[in-house]
Amino acid sequence: MHRRITGKLVIATHNPGKLAEMRELLAPYGIEAVSAGELGLGEPDETGDSFQANARIKAEAAAQAAQLPAFADDSGLAVDALNGAPGIYSARWAGETKDFGAAMAQIERLLQERGAMAPAQRSVHFVSALCVAWPDGHIEEVEARADGTLVWPPRGTAGFGYDPMFLPDGHDRTFGEMTSIEKHGLPPLGLGLSHRAKAFVKLAEICLAG
Ligand code: IMP
Repeated sequence: MHRRITGKLVIATHNPGKLAEMRELLAPYGIEAVSAGELGLGEPDETGDSFQANARIKAEAAAQAAQLPAFADDSGLAVDALNGAPGIYSARWAGETKDFGAAMAQIERLLQERGAMAPAQRSVHFVSALCVAWPDGHIEEVEARADGTLVWPPRGTAGFGYDPMFLPDGHDRTFGEMTSIEKHGLPPLGLGLSHRAKAFVKLAEICLAG
C-alpha cells in the first residue's frame, strides 16, 4: 500500500539549489517543507552502491532524527562507454572546488581515449532516485532517467553540473542551453524533460494528493 504525504515534510538536503527546486515542486501540493539544514540535522555518509540506496540513506537518517517524514534525492550522470561512470560519484568527479568544467573535460578525455567520437558511441543518461521515509520505517521510492548524447565542446551557461554536455534525445539544444522551465518544468508550461521532473511525477502519483 502506498502512503500519502500529509502535513510537514523534511527535505533531507543541505544543498540550497536542490532545496529551492524541491520546494518549488512540492509547493502546489500544500506540503509544509522544512529543510534538514534548518532543523540542524547532520549529513549521513553516502555509502550506498546505487542512487536509490543513497537516497534512502539520506531520507531514513532525516526521518529518524526529526521524527517526521523526510524526502531525499540522489542523482548523477551515467556514460555508457564508461560503464556507467561517473554514476554515483558524479559530484565527486568535480572535486572539492566543484569544478564541473574539469569533470566534463575528464569525461571527454576518457571518451577520446576510447575513440568514442560518433554520437552513437556517446550515449548517456541522467538518473534521479527519490525516497520518502517515515519515522516508523515505511518508505516510498521511485527512479527515473533522461536519455541523451554527450556533445563536445560544452554548450550553454544555464543549469548546473554536467548540463552543458548533455543533449537530450529528440532535441537540438543541450540542458545548458535550456531554461529551467524547459528542462524541469512540467507540461503545459515546460517540457518536463529532466530525470528529476520525471521522477517527481512518479512520486506525486503515489504520494501526493492530486
Ligand atoms: P548528488 O545527487 O547530490 O549526489 O549529486 C549528483 C551530481 O550529479 C551533482 O554533482 C550534479 O552535478 C550531477 N547532476 C545531477 N543532476 C543533474 C542535472 O540535472 N544536471 C546536471 N548535473 C546533474
